[in-house]
Amino acid sequence: MTSTEQRLAALRGRVAPRRHNARTIAALTGNPGCTRRAVLDSAGIDKQRIAAHVGYPGRFGQSQFAITRGNAFEARVKENGCAELLDLLRQRLGVPIPEASYDDLAGPPATDIVQPAVDGGNAERHARSMELLVRAATDAGPTSTLFDHPMLRLDVAGRPVYLEPDLIALQIGGRFHVVEIKSFAVIDEQADAAKVAAAATQSAVYVLAMRGMLEQAGLDPEIVSHEVVLVCPRDFANQPTAALIDVRKQLSTLRRQLTRMARVDDLLVGLPADLSFDLAAGADGVPTRSPAELAAALSTVDARYAPECLSACELSYFCRYEARTGTAALGRPVRDALGGIDSVETVLALAAGEIEPDDDQVEAALRLRTAARLRAEAFA
Ligand code: SF4
Repeated sequence: MTSTEQRLAALRGRVAPRRHNARTIAALTGNPGCTRRAVLDSAGIDKQRIAAHVGYPGRFGQSQFAITRGNAFEARVKENGCAELLDLLRQRLGVPIPEASYDDLAGPPATDIVQPAVDGGNAERHARSMELLVRAATDAGPTSTLFDHPMLRLDVAGRPVYLEPDLIALQIGGRFHVVEIKSFAVIDEQADAAKVAAAATQSAVYVLAMRGMLEQAGLDPEIVSHEVVLVCPRDFANQPTAALIDVRKQLSTLRRQLTRMARVDDLLVGLPADLSFDLAAGADGVPTRSPAELAAALSTVDARYAPECLSACELSYFCRYEARTGTAALGRPVRDALGGIDSVETVLALAAGEIEPDDDQVEAALRLRTAARLRAEAFA
């Protein structure tokens, strides 16, 4: 174990590390400047449990209804050897796909979060996926190949994370496209923008993982296309429709954030030597650590709360409470407009002319006083 790994293990305490999945890796891009999130995720700390123990449980995860609906739609799309999906791919990719072989690389257990190293089965499945992907890339003939449930691998904070997406990787003429199946509806050719953005980022995780695997095999990673195919139900029926999405932007954000996590040493500098987020439970199953102590430990790591955290991070309710007196809680545009003034109390005092601005605050203070005057006039 390296000293960094030892330090991360000490932060995590006596509980098993929580592994990433595509959703959690994608969420890392939501607030790349937050040290708290980067440190906790690098250490594999269960943020959901931490949030619950300090009294700010988040509401995350899909409902059972959404999971069942998603599974039913995926099964529908893959019926008859993916015949209907192939038709959609022909249309969207604009290339003839005369025939396609189908390889289902799934194997028990079919979970989205997979423990590496300790689970030899997953390592074997990953090796098998790698072998087939490499063979398809190097023996590219006229026949295309559909890979269902390939076991991908990506390094996150220096540790391998195995990902088993519900996706099909399509190889045509030596080029791969990631196909992501989602159950949110496209109505009148419009879909929920936030859901599309989340699907695009998750697909980018798979593109990055596939590129890494091919690169490791000495092949050109760019043969995995930055255009992914998103398949969703159309209108109010279960009829699938497909769209091409360019994920280059998501790829570069992901790379940046993963590189930052790989340099987790820099983030650990300056944290108290005895800092720990240990959630080990006592005989009654409840963590022995007091919530107040745990909250104090959290507060020693810098956070960068923004309202967007509410949909992307398990700690959002805690961080929102902590940031309640800061301008960051009002959103990035407000915080940026007030550049350098962190406290709402200071903002109000400057607006009311109760304190004199320092050199850095003059411009913002002028705007605040103007805004306060206009507000007073409007109310008068
Ligand atoms: S909720 Fe807190 S820990 Fe999570 S990203 Fe936002 S500021 Fe960071």
